Amino acid sequence: MTTKLIIKAIKTILIATMLSLSMAQATAKGVAHSTADLQRVVDEAYTKYKDLKEGKNADYIPILTTVPSDLFGVVIVTRDGKVYAKGDVDYKFSIQSISKPFTASLVMQQQGPGAIAEKIGVEPTGLPFNSKVALELLEARSVNPSVNAGAIAAVSMVKAESEKDRWKQVLQNLSDFAGRDLKLMDDVYDSEYGTSWGNRAIANLLYNYERLYSEPEEALRVYTRQCSVGVSAKDLGIMGATLANEGVNPITNKRVLATEHVPELLAVMAMTGFYDESGIWQYTSGLPAKTGVGGGIVTVVPGKFAIAAFSPRLNEAGNSIRAMKAIRYISGELGVGLYGANPE
Ligand code: GLU
Repeated sequence: MTTKLIIKAIKTILIATMLSLSMAQATAKGVAHSTADLQRVVDEAYTKYKDLKEGKNADYIPILTTVPSDLFGVVIVTRDGKVYAKGDVDYKFSIQSISKPFTASLVMQQQGPGAIAEKIGVEPTGLPFNSKVALELLEARSVNPSVNAGAIAAVSMVKAESEKDRWKQVLQNLSDFAGRDLKLMDDVYDSEYGTSWGNRAIANLLYNYERLYSEPEEALRVYTRQCSVGVSAKDLGIMGATLANEGVNPITNKRVLATEHVPELLAVMAMTGFYDESGIWQYTSGLPAKTGVGGGIVTVVPGKFAIAAFSPRLNEAGNSIRAMKAIRYISGELGVGLYGANPE
């Protein structure tokens, strides 16, 4: 070999080594975030948005107007159960729609993901969460487990001997995700069930189209109860961390969802978790999430951690403004979007 060739070979080896080193660094940056990093972004997100007053509490469920609007909490829970928190992360509020994917996961556990796709659907509606028009327009009727129609259908699919048994299973499943015994907020249930005319119409229409699998009023009652379960932002973080941890609760170590079903559930959350803002949420954050009109949001960074936040003031679509912005800030800062780092 000539000296020239030897020099060329050494150069090639050097370049390849440098490239693989920088790739390893980039991967490490994406995978491992230090304790200091996680607490810093939580603190920053809180400080950045704590004074934001935009939006208003949901008022179509009368009691939700009485929740103090200034409450605000942000939390990250890692897949091994470490908690990084700031603000009102222990305040109990109603879980509302965030219960929906978790009950869908119970149905997946009992009947497999195919049952969700066939008997409910997994397409976004592009319409508000309580739309009756979607139910008339779209052949799937229930359309997906994140809108009210699909969520009422999911409740009706839980294999149960009685209404009591149905509710027991739904509550136990939510509690297993949270790693503690969650409780019904009776005042929220009374307020919501007493004004549930729209959801009652949805349950009856679904039954009419043979897309409800229990007696309608029973499904409505259990659905309304699941929405009235009290959680804190920290609970939501643990529920999300259970999904980040492939279905095993990091606090209790109990398996709540089979590893192989986690991707389907996260896909449903990604496509439908933000109602008719799911597209823009995905476009900007690149992460599966679920929001609720109680002001909570939980976001999952698969294999790593969950980011959850709570703030009662909502935008027109029913999504908490400060919670959404705080989570978006954190995902951008940490560069954890699933489709690539998505800076703020
Ligand atoms: N319980 C609420 C309803 O049925 C849930 C809506 C939500 O959180 O988006 O309208």
